[in-house]
Amino acid sequence: MFNVNRVRNCTGLYLCSCGTKVTRHEATTDELPDLRPDTPPEEQLRQQRRRVRLRQHCRQRKIDELRATMHKLHLVQHPDVTFGQKVNLAYDRLNAVCFDSRLSPASEMLHWVHAEQVNYDGCTFGVHGVVVGIVLSADVTSLSDMFGVLLHEMVHADIEVRQVPVGSLSHGRHFKDGVKHAVAKVMQHLNDFEQIAGTELSLDAHRIAKATFRRE
Ligand SMILES: [Zn+2]
Repeated sequence: MFNVNRVRNCTGLYLCSCGTKVTRHEATTDELPDLRPDTPPEEQLRQQRRRVRLRQHCRQRKIDELRATMHKLHLVQHPDVTFGQKVNLAYDRLNAVCFDSRLSPASEMLHWVHAEQVNYDGCTFGVHGVVVGIVLSADVTSLSDMFGVLLHEMVHADIEVRQVPVGSLSHGRHFKDGVKHAVAKVMQHLNDFEQIAGTELSLDAHRIAKATFRRE
Protein backbone atom coordinates (compact mmCIF):
# COMPACT_ATOMS: atom_id res chain seq x y z
CA MET A 1 0.00 0.00 0.00
CA PHE A 2 1.11 3.54 -0.63
CA ASN A 3 2.83 4.53 2.56
CA VAL A 4 1.72 7.97 3.62
CA ASN A 5 1.17 8.79 7.24
CA ARG A 6 -1.80 10.67 8.47
CA VAL A 7 -0.83 14.02 9.91
CA ARG A 8 -3.12 16.34 11.77
CA ASN A 9 -2.47 19.99 12.33
CA CYS A 10 -4.48 22.98 13.40
CA THR A 11 -5.37 24.17 9.91
CA GLY A 12 -6.81 21.01 8.48
CA LEU A 13 -6.65 17.30 8.10
CA TYR A 14 -4.09 15.71 5.82
CA LEU A 15 -5.01 12.27 4.63
CA CYS A 16 -3.38 9.98 2.22
CA SER A 17 -5.91 9.76 -0.56
CA CYS A 18 -4.59 6.85 -2.54
CA GLY A 19 -3.45 3.35 -1.66
CA THR A 20 -2.83 2.22 -5.21
CA LYS A 21 0.47 0.60 -5.84
CA VAL A 22 1.34 -0.60 -9.30
CA THR A 23 1.67 -4.35 -9.28
CA ARG A 24 3.52 -6.08 -12.03
CA HIS A 25 3.06 -9.71 -12.90
CA GLU A 26 6.64 -10.87 -13.19
CA ALA A 27 6.93 -14.24 -14.80
CA THR A 28 9.35 -16.64 -13.21
CA THR A 29 11.21 -18.03 -16.14
CA ASP A 30 14.41 -18.81 -14.23
CA GLU A 31 13.88 -22.51 -14.64
CA LEU A 32 14.04 -22.19 -18.41
CA PRO A 33 17.45 -22.16 -20.07
CA ASP A 34 18.37 -19.06 -22.07
CA LEU A 35 17.60 -19.31 -25.74
CA ARG A 36 20.83 -19.76 -27.64
CA PRO A 37 21.51 -19.03 -31.29
CA ASP A 38 22.33 -22.70 -31.88
CA THR A 39 19.15 -23.98 -30.18
CA PRO A 40 17.22 -25.95 -32.81
CA PRO A 41 14.15 -24.02 -34.09
CA GLU A 42 11.66 -26.61 -32.78
CA GLU A 43 13.24 -26.38 -29.29
CA GLN A 44 13.13 -22.55 -29.41
CA LEU A 45 9.44 -22.72 -30.23
CA ARG A 46 8.78 -25.16 -27.36
CA GLN A 47 10.60 -22.90 -24.90
CA GLN A 48 8.79 -19.79 -26.09
CA ARG A 49 5.45 -21.53 -25.53
CA ARG A 50 6.52 -22.52 -22.03
CA ARG A 51 7.47 -18.90 -21.30
CA VAL A 52 4.04 -17.70 -22.44
CA ARG A 53 2.31 -20.33 -20.26
CA LEU A 54 4.42 -19.38 -17.24
CA ARG A 55 3.62 -15.70 -17.67
CA GLN A 56 -0.09 -16.44 -17.94
CA HIS A 57 0.09 -18.63 -14.85
CA CYS A 58 1.94 -15.96 -12.82
CA ARG A 59 -0.48 -13.28 -13.97
CA GLN A 60 -3.54 -15.32 -12.97
CA ARG A 61 -1.96 -16.08 -9.59
CA LYS A 62 -1.36 -12.36 -9.01
CA ILE A 63 -4.98 -11.55 -9.94
CA ASP A 64 -6.24 -14.22 -7.50
CA GLU A 65 -3.96 -12.84 -4.75
CA LEU A 66 -5.19 -9.28 -5.32
CA ARG A 67 -8.83 -10.36 -5.21
CA ALA A 68 -8.21 -12.23 -1.94
CA THR A 69 -6.34 -9.24 -0.46
CA MET A 70 -9.18 -6.90 -1.40
CA HIS A 71 -11.86 -9.12 0.13
CA LYS A 72 -9.92 -9.42 3.40
CA LEU A 73 -10.61 -5.72 3.96
CA HIS A 74 -14.05 -6.18 5.57
CA LEU A 75 -15.87 -4.59 2.66
CA VAL A 76 -19.21 -3.07 3.63
CA GLN A 77 -22.34 -1.62 2.06
CA HIS A 78 -22.21 2.18 2.10
CA PRO A 79 -24.11 3.25 5.24
CA ASP A 80 -25.77 6.09 3.28
CA VAL A 81 -27.60 4.33 0.45
CA THR A 82 -28.24 7.55 -1.50
CA PHE A 83 -24.58 8.59 -1.29
CA GLY A 84 -23.49 5.16 -2.54
CA GLN A 85 -25.96 5.30 -5.42
CA LYS A 86 -24.73 8.74 -6.48
CA VAL A 87 -21.13 7.52 -6.51
CA ASN A 88 -22.12 4.50 -8.63
CA LEU A 89 -23.95 6.78 -11.07
CA ALA A 90 -20.99 9.18 -11.21
CA TYR A 91 -18.62 6.26 -11.87
CA ASP A 92 -20.69 4.89 -14.76
CA ARG A 93 -21.03 8.36 -16.30
CA LEU A 94 -17.30 9.06 -15.85
CA ASN A 95 -16.55 5.70 -17.44
CA ALA A 96 -18.53 6.71 -20.53
CA VAL A 97 -17.40 10.34 -20.74
CA CYS A 98 -13.72 10.07 -19.79
CA PHE A 99 -12.69 6.47 -20.46
CA ASP A 100 -14.76 5.36 -23.48
CA SER A 101 -16.42 2.73 -21.22
CA ARG A 102 -13.18 0.73 -20.99
CA LEU A 103 -13.75 -0.01 -17.30
CA SER A 104 -16.20 -2.56 -15.89
CA PRO A 105 -19.46 -1.12 -14.49
CA ALA A 106 -19.68 0.36 -11.00
CA SER A 107 -21.77 -2.57 -9.74
CA GLU A 108 -18.76 -4.88 -10.33
CA MET A 109 -15.95 -2.49 -9.50
CA LEU A 110 -16.80 -0.31 -6.51
CA HIS A 111 -16.42 -1.48 -2.92
CA TRP A 112 -16.61 0.35 0.38
CA VAL A 113 -14.57 0.05 3.51
CA HIS A 114 -14.49 1.96 6.79
CA ALA A 115 -11.52 4.25 7.40
CA GLU A 116 -10.25 2.37 10.45
CA GLN A 117 -9.49 -0.60 8.19
CA VAL A 118 -7.26 1.28 5.76
CA ASN A 119 -4.97 4.30 5.53
CA TYR A 120 -6.34 5.71 2.30
CA ASP A 121 -9.49 7.15 0.78
CA GLY A 122 -9.27 5.06 -2.36
CA CYS A 123 -7.29 2.14 -3.72
CA THR A 124 -7.31 0.38 -7.08
CA PHE A 125 -6.48 -3.31 -7.12
CA GLY A 126 -5.18 -4.40 -10.48
CA VAL A 127 -2.40 -5.75 -12.62
CA HIS A 128 -1.63 -4.75 -16.17
CA GLY A 129 -4.73 -5.46 -18.23
CA VAL A 130 -7.03 -6.43 -15.36
CA VAL A 131 -8.62 -4.37 -12.59
CA VAL A 132 -10.05 -6.45 -9.77
CA GLY A 133 -11.81 -3.58 -8.00
CA ILE A 134 -11.70 -0.10 -6.54
CA VAL A 135 -12.07 0.27 -2.77
CA LEU A 136 -13.30 3.59 -1.41
CA SER A 137 -13.53 4.90 2.13
CA ALA A 138 -17.13 5.05 3.35
CA ASP A 139 -15.99 7.77 5.76
CA VAL A 140 -15.48 10.43 3.10
CA THR A 141 -18.77 12.26 3.55
CA SER A 142 -18.35 15.09 1.03
CA LEU A 143 -19.56 14.11 -2.45
CA SER A 144 -17.22 16.68 -3.98
CA ASP A 145 -14.22 15.13 -2.19
CA MET A 146 -15.39 11.63 -3.11
CA PHE A 147 -15.74 12.68 -6.74
CA GLY A 148 -12.04 13.65 -6.74
CA VAL A 149 -11.02 10.37 -5.08
CA LEU A 150 -13.17 8.39 -7.52
CA LEU A 151 -11.74 10.13 -10.57
CA HIS A 152 -8.19 9.63 -9.27
CA GLU A 153 -8.75 5.88 -8.82
CA MET A 154 -10.50 5.52 -12.18
CA VAL A 155 -7.44 7.00 -13.91
CA HIS A 156 -5.31 4.34 -12.17
CA ALA A 157 -7.75 1.67 -13.33
CA ASP A 158 -7.73 2.96 -16.90
CA ILE A 159 -3.93 2.98 -16.98
CA GLU A 160 -3.95 -0.67 -15.91
CA VAL A 161 -6.64 -1.63 -18.43
CA ARG A 162 -4.77 0.12 -21.24
CA GLN A 163 -1.50 -1.39 -20.00
CA VAL A 164 0.29 1.95 -20.12
CA PRO A 165 3.99 1.38 -19.36
CA VAL A 166 4.24 3.44 -16.16
CA GLY A 167 7.03 1.40 -14.59
CA SER A 168 7.04 1.86 -10.84
CA LEU A 169 5.71 5.42 -11.01
CA SER A 170 2.07 5.08 -9.96
CA HIS A 171 1.60 8.86 -9.94
CA GLY A 172 4.05 9.83 -12.69
CA ARG A 173 3.66 11.62 -16.00
CA HIS A 174 1.23 9.15 -17.57
CA PHE A 175 -1.01 9.33 -14.52
CA LYS A 176 -0.97 13.14 -14.38
CA ASP A 177 -1.77 13.33 -18.11
CA GLY A 178 -4.65 10.88 -17.55
CA VAL A 179 -6.08 13.05 -14.76
CA LYS A 180 -5.76 16.22 -16.86
CA HIS A 181 -7.56 14.55 -19.76
CA ALA A 182 -10.34 13.22 -17.50
CA VAL A 183 -10.87 16.56 -15.72
CA ALA A 184 -11.07 18.36 -19.09
CA LYS A 185 -13.77 15.91 -20.19
CA VAL A 186 -15.69 16.34 -16.93
CA MET A 187 -15.59 20.13 -17.34
CA GLN A 188 -17.35 19.74 -20.71
CA HIS A 189 -20.19 17.92 -18.93
CA LEU A 190 -19.99 19.64 -15.54
CA ASN A 191 -23.74 20.26 -15.29
CA ASP A 192 -24.46 16.52 -15.75
CA PHE A 193 -22.02 15.56 -13.03
CA GLU A 194 -23.20 18.24 -10.63
CA GLN A 195 -26.74 17.02 -11.17
CA ILE A 196 -25.70 13.45 -10.34
CA ALA A 197 -23.78 14.60 -7.26
CA GLY A 198 -26.50 17.06 -6.24
CA THR A 199 -23.80 19.53 -5.31
CA GLU A 200 -21.24 21.88 -6.79
CA LEU A 201 -18.05 20.07 -7.77
CA SER A 202 -14.65 21.58 -7.26
CA LEU A 203 -12.19 20.02 -9.68
CA ASP A 204 -8.50 20.80 -9.65
CA ALA A 205 -6.49 18.40 -11.83
CA HIS A 206 -3.27 19.14 -9.96
CA ARG A 207 -4.87 18.34 -6.61
CA ILE A 208 -6.70 15.24 -7.87
CA ALA A 209 -3.49 13.86 -9.38
CA LYS A 210 -1.70 13.96 -6.03
CA ALA A 211 -1.38 10.83 -3.92
CA THR A 212 -2.03 13.04 -0.94
CA PHE A 213 -4.26 16.00 -0.61
CA ARG A 214 -5.53 18.31 2.02
CA ARG A 215 -9.14 17.85 2.94
CA GLU A 216 -10.51 20.90 4.78
ZN1 LIG B 1 -3.16 7.21 -6.69
